[in-house]
Amino acid sequence: MQKKNPASSRDQATELKRYFAKRVTDQVRHVIGIWRLVVDENWQTHRLEDLLESTKKLIRYAQHFQEESHLKLARAIALSLETIMDAGDEPDQMIIDELTNTIEQLSGTALRKNDSVPSSQQAITPKKSIYVAMTDAELAHKLERQLEFFGFRTIITQTGDEFKEKLKTQEPAAIIMDVNLEQQFMYGIELINEYLESNAPDVETIFYSDQDADIHTLLMASRAKARYFHNKTIEMSKIVEEIEDITDVSPETPYRVLVVEDSKTQAFRIEQILNNSGMITKAILDPMLIMDALEDFQPEIILMDMYMPVCNGMELANVIRQQPRYVSIPIVFLSAEDDLEKQFDAMSKGGDVFLTKPIKANHLITAVRTKGQRARQLLALVNQDSLTGLLNHTSILRELQNEVNKARPKGTPLCFAMIDIDHFKNINDTYGHPVGDRVIKNLAMFLKQRLRKTDFIGRYGGEEFAVVLTNTALRDAYTIFDEIRKRFSQLKQSSDKKDFHVTFSCGVVEMDDVNYKNMTVVCDEILYDAKRGGRNRVCHRQEL
Ligand code: GH3
Ligand code: MG
Ligand code: MG
Ligand code: MG
Repeated sequence: MQKKNPASSRDQATELKRYFAKRVTDQVRHVIGIWRLVVDENWQTHRLEDLLESTKKLIRYAQHFQEESHLKLARAIALSLETIMDAGDEPDQMIIDELTNTIEQLSGTALRKNDSVPSSQQAITPKKSIYVAMTDAELAHKLERQLEFFGFRTIITQTGDEFKEKLKTQEPAAIIMDVNLEQQFMYGIELINEYLESNAPDVETIFYSDQDADIHTLLMASRAKARYFHNKTIEMSKIVEEIEDITDVSPETPYRVLVVEDSKTQAFRIEQILNNSGMITKAILDPMLIMDALEDFQPEIILMDMYMPVCNGMELANVIRQQPRYVSIPIVFLSAEDDLEKQFDAMSKGGDVFLTKPIKANHLITAVRTKGQRARQLLALVNQDSLTGLLNHTSILRELQNEVNKARPKGTPLCFAMIDIDHFKNINDTYGHPVGDRVIKNLAMFLKQRLRKTDFIGRYGGEEFAVVLTNTALRDAYTIFDEIRKRFSQLKQSSDKKDFHVTFSCGVVEMDDVNYKNMTVVCDEILYDAKRGGRNRVCHRQEL
């Protein structure tokens, strides 16, 4: 068995690149740390100077490591800062807003690397490489075509040697493996075991057997970490779902944590710990500001000091939970108190966790993560559509509202789209309701696969979908949806009767000052234009 040499030049290059990226990210976090001091301490000159110096360092790093997006933002920050500092006591509010805005964008780049690609590029570029190791070339190509529709790239290999050679050059996102590759009994399983025993990164496998596999084979496959097993036939639509399941390793969206703590030093330290593990924080030192902070910052978790002047943490928690909107928001109490009685009391008042100071960084991070995950799961259940896992009608409308509220003051573009499957009643009537459901799921997956994590996708109604594209102008939105429309119409939908094709119509509208309040109504009208115009098309009214 061949072991991978960890010191190969390819590995070193990757390692080095990762190191550089980390240097830039660390510097971004440093800039943001100082920014917080600037705001907290009322724009003192020496803090502004610190900020400028830190930003200039970021510019140098970004230049050196060719991080274009950071470079652009850092330059904009430096420029605004210099303007503000030149203006002395009377800085222009517009420049301050601009600076705030750019810093916000910068914090986004530190946390969410994958989302910085414009959607127009991402929608067209396939993201992942799936290995298909299969003796039956015709089947392998059928798989390739199917997967391609969903934006996956494939690498086909027909023999074990080819498979091993390819592995040396490119890491798989997932493997579809013929159990009896080269028609040798369980050779495919052997190859996977060999791969797993090398120092290679973990990968999950979908096995396929062209003959009815016995329990012995199934057991061996499961020991080789098989996630799914296809016996005798490969159901195309199912395999796409499985691949999507396996390869969905999207980075966790950062948690939003509100810190209520009267000690500035403590608050700063807590924020630093949480920021360093990729969370977004806001601290308030005065508990009386809690209501505005909840409204403006929309935290997912609250970290609250037990003992503060004016009111204590328990009282504050009670006040928060009196508001129906915040009834289920998790609260983590922090205190030097190690009196168990009081801790239990705190928990019975709805506080979920109690951490004793001095808090260890890893305890804090774990507590916040665990609570955050749980809260998200619960929220997802309430907000999700059960058939597709997309946002439901109410949630997508709420997201539209939220994003419009964010985009308007920033002046960033935003688009809203509505999609309706063409002649869907015919599909149900011809192939049956379950096949209709499968078509709906396919379109849902198609959209998820081809849009960014920063976009919001919802099931608006039966066979209708709605999408909010953040930071996207109409021209790009049109290109994206037209590409999706074309690709989707080529996708083979399967049923036991025969394979068939499905199309959809789509209306897109860009937010502007005239229609930001009734985007859904306008969009619905545009969708109707698309239907009247003959279906299978994307329509818009504003100029591209
Ligand atoms: P058009 O091109 O004008 O959109 O024609 P259409 O047949 O798609 O339009 P219509 O809105 O009249 O029909 C939608 C059908 O979708 C009616 C309903 O029975 C079906 N439907 C709604 N929800 C579901 C669902 O969850 N699953 C399935 N299989 N069918 C659904
Ligand atoms: Mg205190
Ligand atoms: Mg409809
Ligand atoms: Mg329809």
